[in-house]
Amino acid sequence: MPFNLCLADREAAGLRRWLPAIDQVNGCQLVSQGKTYLNFAGNDYLGLSQAPELISATANAAQQFGVGAVASPLVVGHQAIHRELETAVADWLGVEAVMLFSSGFSANQALIKALLTKGHTLWQDKLNHASLQEAGMLSPARQQRFAHNNMRMLAKQLKPQSGLIISEGVFSMDGDQGDWRSLSQLAEQSNNWLMIDDAHGLGVLGKQGRGTLSEQGIAADKVHIHMGTFGKALGVSGAFIGGSRALINYLHNHARSYVYSTHLPPPQAAAILAAVHLVQNADEKRAQLQARIAQFKAGAANLPLSLMASSTAIQPLLVGEEQACMQIANQLRERGFWVGAIRPPTVPKKSARLRITLSAAHSKADINALLVALQKAANSV
Ligand SMILES: *Cc1c(COP(=O)(O)O)cnc(C)c1O
Repeated sequence: MPFNLCLADREAAGLRRWLPAIDQVNGCQLVSQGKTYLNFAGNDYLGLSQAPELISATANAAQQFGVGAVASPLVVGHQAIHRELETAVADWLGVEAVMLFSSGFSANQALIKALLTKGHTLWQDKLNHASLQEAGMLSPARQQRFAHNNMRMLAKQLKPQSGLIISEGVFSMDGDQGDWRSLSQLAEQSNNWLMIDDAHGLGVLGKQGRGTLSEQGIAADKVHIHMGTFGKALGVSGAFIGGSRALINYLHNHARSYVYSTHLPPPQAAAILAAVHLVQNADEKRAQLQARIAQFKAGAANLPLSLMASSTAIQPLLVGEEQACMQIANQLRERGFWVGAIRPPTVPKKSARLRITLSAAHSKADINALLVALQKAANSV
């Protein structure tokens, strides 16, 4: 056999992964093997995955257009509903043009592959998402990674006019934000391009939920490439890249996972479009989420586990050892709470953590119940 499929090493290190047996997820509740849990592991920060407006938009579009786009965008897949969605996203975020991808993973890979060639340099925060890191490693461009949010290190690495800096709006495993004031200054001074992956900031932060840049008071045109996903706060799935018309025209020609992939199903585009409209007027939901975050942080300060420096809906509790992290997660599960246990290689060694994600759909009582269960579980390991 030409391949080694053995997982014994991972098993021995307690790092083997299994698909959980989930029957159904309804936003902040889920059912697994017949038992109902409170879900603190999703990214549905505003509860939009269950919004009646999105459900009816999906159903209506399926009736009107059918369920498939039937082709890749450049063949005949790109339809009026896709154009309408692109325009809505571009207007919302204040960028010239937008293109849609089936996933954030493929958008990031396509962008890096299409744009960077030998002779370019790619500067990335060490905690950037796997889709960015992996594309960077495979790219013929030189990749330099800077320590998380370390702007002095980035400043030292930068060379004038030679490539692209990528960081995240809200970091997916730590919940803290990139320093976009410094990033945009460094990009401008060094004449390099700047890209934001705002998967976890979009919809949640900033004016009308425009994301991390708006939250930090950075003009959209300071950042050359905007990437965001529709699978987190927008509650659906899919992703986009936004920027200048010239950039998007270039990517239409060179982004291979765009050119050679079936376009988003029209009902999905319709659901996302409904989410984009909803999220711009969702200040009440965003305020509710902020209240839950404040409630959780106040309560968790009394736990024997340390909170990380996050003020967002991603509230990791650092455990350290993988085994202890799994034990606490399992105990929480026995008590009816589903919390992600994040282990290496997703996060650095000895930094296993419970990744607790909060949603506007959680009630005050849900958060209180979680805090009580966390106290009991943490005391028993
Ligand atoms: C989830 C995520 C992605 C990938 O997006 P998908 O649409 O789920 O493939 C990319 N970047 C970041 C930071 C993410 O959190």
